[in-house]
Amino acid sequence: MSKTLQIEVDPLLCASQERIITGQLPYGELKQIQQDIDVSSSPISVDLMFSRVGKFVVLTGRISSNLVLQCAACLELTDITVDIDVKLALINNEDRLSLVPDGYEPYLFEGDRLLMSELIESEVVLVLPSIARHDVCPIELPNSSTSKDFMSEAEVKKNPFEALANFKKH
Ligand SMILES: [Zn+2]
Repeated sequence: MSKTLQIEVDPLLCASQERIITGQLPYGELKQIQQDIDVSSSPISVDLMFSRVGKFVVLTGRISSNLVLQCAACLELTDITVDIDVKLALINNEDRLSLVPDGYEPYLFEGDRLLMSELIESEVVLVLPSIARHDVCPIELPNSSTSKDFMSEAEVKKNPFEALANFKKH
């Protein structure tokens, strides 16, 4: 059964127990990115472990999902694969920012409790494109399909490939 990730944990205690956090964050529980993604997006899957590196509490593991966003060009939906290799040093004191161990990204939180869902979403926000676009849109773009300029431009673009194909034959 899937456990909720809307949980507040004590990072120090979790580190001493080497606690593992696994589960899924469904669309309905998203707070920061819900408006940016489509309801057909997969839940965000997490497999994370607390531990210690020196005096730091670190969180390592994976955050992954297949999110669905609207393409800014054609307005159809486009899939974005999220696969984050998590290596965070958890700090609640900015003075320690410069001491974060090599290879770890600092994650600043307030107080002594950490809301897992908030951390997970914050990490996904970092990799989400500010403007989603297909590499190649599956449909003709509405603002150019009837334009003669677009047609001629498409023909011009086609030619180099034909030339190349002919060249290879000889
Ligand atoms: Zn598109």
